[in-house]
Amino acid sequence: MSNILFQAPVCEMKSFDNLFIEMTAKNCNQRCKHCYIDFPLNKNVKDFISVDSIKNALTQTKDENIKCIYLMGAEPMTHPDFNVILRLCLKYSNVCIFTNGSFINEKKARFLKKVQDENSNEIIFKLSMDHYNEFKNDEIRSRGAYRTVINAVKNLVKYGFSPIICVTNYYNEPCEKLLNEFKNIFQKQGYNLNDSNIVINEFYNSEKSDVVRDSIDNKPDCMYGRTLTSLGVYCCPFLANDHRGRCGSDFSDFSHHNSIETSYCATCMKNKENMFGINFKLFEC
Ligand code: SF4
Repeated sequence: MSNILFQAPVCEMKSFDNLFIEMTAKNCNQRCKHCYIDFPLNKNVKDFISVDSIKNALTQTKDENIKCIYLMGAEPMTHPDFNVILRLCLKYSNVCIFTNGSFINEKKARFLKKVQDENSNEIIFKLSMDHYNEFKNDEIRSRGAYRTVINAVKNLVKYGFSPIICVTNYYNEPCEKLLNEFKNIFQKQGYNLNDSNIVINEFYNSEKSDVVRDSIDNKPDCMYGRTLTSLGVYCCPFLANDHRGRCGSDFSDFSHHNSIETSYCATCMKNKENMFGINFKLFEC
């Protein structure tokens, strides 16, 4: 009998570049097939993180060199205090909003531009869109999702933003083809997507796949950030509110180590870049 016990690889946080904030775990107006969130049947769950929890986290992390605060969900713009939180976070850092675009009409885009102009920090948008074909996109995301996101991009571009399009390669198509087709679509809308404004993540069905147990040779999000939710601090957005990713109650004392033993980790290992954080090097001239 072998004496060797299995030990999951441990990931050490190298630097605290990214603060992910889960604004709500359960509120979203779409139901994407690949979403890692386990949505309740009841749509009226009031699980929004409090403004005080965010204020507390910003105070506790003020000496870290955070490059970006990410407002995430489910859909972060469903939060009733979204505008207050956005303004608050912009005082500390750049803010990236992960959104499906449903709440960004022309008036909202104009407002967001005004809020950005009040600060020296930047608002960055990561908009989800999974296929260049309307039918195939809406089959994954929700009916009407394609037109909604195209309109959101047009509105943001009108007010000088350069949104990042985030694609989950659900149909496992060649990346080159996806890139070209997305560029064509947005060119027709007057937005010239460059390579740094489109992120393609490989889809990995974690339910059906073995957990990756070898060494860490890419840079998963748990290496460069932590996630704040209404329940505490977690190692990454995938493991938000999951006891396997728990790092502490708040940022006064939190773990800088975590095991990469979950099936979600396989998704991180399959993708060469981190799944949530922005690779700012791509934007350097
Ligand atoms: S899912 Fe990814 S980011 Fe989260 S702990 Fe696993 S390897 Fe790290």
